[in-house]
Amino acid sequence: MPSVAPKASIAGLAARKPALPEPTLPDAASAGRIVRLHLNEGALGPSPRAMEAMRSVAERMDRYPGVDASGLARALGRKHGIDPERVLLGCGSDELIQFLCLAYVEPGEEVIHTQYGFLLFPMAARIAGGVPVSAPDDGFTASVDAILERVTPRTKLVFLANPNNPTGTCLPAGEVRRLREGLPDRVLLVVDAAYAEYVQRDDYTAGIELVEATDNTVMLRTFSKAFGMAGLRLGWAYCPQPVADTLYSVRPPYGVNAPSLAAGLAAVEDRAFQDATVAHNARWMPWLQERFRALGLEPLPTAANFMMLRFPAEPGRNADAVRPFLAGRGILVREMAGYGAPEYIRLSVGREDENRLVVDAVRDFLNGANA
Ligand SMILES: *Cc1c(COP(=O)(O)O)cnc(C)c1O
Repeated sequence: MPSVAPKASIAGLAARKPALPEPTLPDAASAGRIVRLHLNEGALGPSPRAMEAMRSVAERMDRYPGVDASGLARALGRKHGIDPERVLLGCGSDELIQFLCLAYVEPGEEVIHTQYGFLLFPMAARIAGGVPVSAPDDGFTASVDAILERVTPRTKLVFLANPNNPTGTCLPAGEVRRLREGLPDRVLLVVDAAYAEYVQRDDYTAGIELVEATDNTVMLRTFSKAFGMAGLRLGWAYCPQPVADTLYSVRPPYGVNAPSLAAGLAAVEDRAFQDATVAHNARWMPWLQERFRALGLEPLPTAANFMMLRFPAEPGRNADAVRPFLAGRGILVREMAGYGAPEYIRLSVGREDENRLVVDAVRDFLNGANA
């Protein structure tokens, strides 16, 4: 026992250090370009305008941010037709997930997340002293009925990622509305729309109109995926006024750094880059899914820029074997055992050359080639 014990609610949480490159990576691959398909990062890199904006503020790093923060919130307000006063910026939406739990969840209160949901939801609940409650999915899709069945007098918050990570599956707007209507008013619903930009369905909502219509629904967004800015750590929440006021009362005043704010503002205004990102995904996701199906594999349907892909159960041809094989060619994909789906891998859409590389590598793997 250490002399000083951390809170009981976080006993047993794994120490999450940023992932190191897989030890199986050959020297050549780690020296050259690694194909990163394991973290759902945008395929096209950052917007050139965002890079330029970041360079141009370098000489002002002696000043606290502040004015620029409202500039980004106003740009988001213009883009989405929302009230910038209720846009809260964070150091990644990961940080906003934590602030929401810290601000709302009393010790012992319950936080519902979905079975194959984002791993940070139960983690943030426990850091706040709350009790995570998992609602079983229907197949690999969130089940509104299962979530509602798990509501108790102690339920305080419900997290729904839509589209969901790691499954890529998506609930239609009517189901998200039915969830809100079925939850007691005292329960905060947090819709994490980290992949909203990629969704091409007509019946989709990221949650903006629910935030407008209620005082207990929050939408989370991020610059890490479609904007290609994961390294920057920039996310935002759109909140009802009372929630915005609460979050402003707990978050550090200068939580988002000035270069991020400048780059974020330029990225929001770069429509051409956003259109190219969406078009790229709409072209290559179906291409990848079709190629994998032709190889006899089973990709899950997805609304985002990544998919779960099922491998055969046979030793040597399964998901456990394909990851080191791909790593041997410098291609990183995500393992799914931690999410309770060990027969799958998760991989994202890359650039054209990367997509062709991964399909060729998976074909060779299934044909029993050497890495
Ligand atoms: C990637 C992701 C985020 C974004 O996290 P950041 O901290 O903004 O990088 C949030 N939620 C889900 C479900 C994600 O997959």
